[in-house]
Amino acid sequence: MKDSYSFDIDPAGLDRSFELHDAVYRKIFTRCGLKFVAVDADSGAMGGSQSQEFMVYTEAGEDLIASCPTCGYAANTEKATSLLDAVTEMAPTGDGLPELVLTPGMGAIADVAAFFQISPASDIKCVAYMALKRGENGKPDSWHGVAAFLRGDHQVNETKLQGAIGAAELRTMNGDELEQFLHAPAGFLGPVGLTAAAKALTSGLTVVVDKGLEGRANLVAGANKLDYHFRNVTPGRDFSWTLAADIRTVNEGEACPTILENGACSGKLVVGKAVEIGHIFKLGYKYTSAMGATVLDPNGKEVTPIMGSYGIGIERILTAAIEQSHDANGFWLPASIAPFQVVVTVTNVTDALLRETGEKLAGDLDAAGIDVLLDDRDERAGVKFKDADLVGIPYRINVGKKVAEGKVELVNRAIAGAEDLALADVVQRLKALV
Ligand SMILES: [Zn+2]
Repeated sequence: MKDSYSFDIDPAGLDRSFELHDAVYRKIFTRCGLKFVAVDADSGAMGGSQSQEFMVYTEAGEDLIASCPTCGYAANTEKATSLLDAVTEMAPTGDGLPELVLTPGMGAIADVAAFFQISPASDIKCVAYMALKRGENGKPDSWHGVAAFLRGDHQVNETKLQGAIGAAELRTMNGDELEQFLHAPAGFLGPVGLTAAAKALTSGLTVVVDKGLEGRANLVAGANKLDYHFRNVTPGRDFSWTLAADIRTVNEGEACPTILENGACSGKLVVGKAVEIGHIFKLGYKYTSAMGATVLDPNGKEVTPIMGSYGIGIERILTAAIEQSHDANGFWLPASIAPFQVVVTVTNVTDALLRETGEKLAGDLDAAGIDVLLDDRDERAGVKFKDADLVGIPYRINVGKKVAEGKVELVNRAIAGAEDLALADVVQRLKALV
């Protein structure tokens, strides 16, 4: 890690330090050739308030990030939100009130949707949890039942749910607990008839409804009875809840949640794995007050400085760059962080003309301020090409037979493309590229 810390005499100073670091870190990652997104984050174990992570999309990443290519919105899926398209509601049947329907063996959303010929978006999914409640002193104290309801095509985000109910820990209910709290078997759980506890986690069952169910009508839901479902279920009319919150995980392709001056952003979310390469956050007074550190302000008054914390994962920059730019033959680094920007490969060093041309080219490139490696080893050309690929050098000049015509070959590793170049043009061309 590369770490830095800021100390300011007041919060406005910290805001300024934070913004400066944000701007500088963006420049650093841009110069390192990384395609990154800046994401609002938790400050984690060290505490603090405003917190931002810099992430690079890669299949090797350990976080899931949702971002909008249109407006730059980005968030960890543990926090990300999206706008949902309007759903066409089912027409009510009979008197329009909840109607019990026999649905033998249909415990899965797909079976229920097929049976009622509805979209899974019109089926209410229930996921039941046991939550470890925090006591008066903030310490974990006892386990309580939680029933979470959301659209059948949505997934519960347990981090969001845990945050919404303020639980210290969450685990799914077992069969005995389902009987105890919902008096029903898995696959047929539903909200109708459940008594929501008045205050979250103080007694009985906490009923949490995802925001995506608010305003919906005529839905299908489990009847808390083996082999039965209700239809015509309308949230608010047919059941109540302890709290409504955003507890679902966003999906790729859903609408961006950003509201711009001229209306909602038209972008669609991209969701993918990403690796963290940097993290900046406002640390606050935690350590300065614990250490009893004080400074004198301009008026000679003793004040406790407020801190910011800023980190870059140096090795992660390298690994993220490699993950971002590789193929079956190896990888190519951005010229700014490659060990050499260009390699001059003399294809046959026993040929005096090739060797001398290569040496001169390398000398000219070096004199022009380009970081150059001369490969004049007595090896076959193929071996040298392979080695250059394994070091990640982005550009290669092949000095071969065409030297007789005053030409060399320039290979751009990123596009695996090659072009012939007049010897006289090599330095200018490379300067432009790197
Ligand atoms: Zn957007």
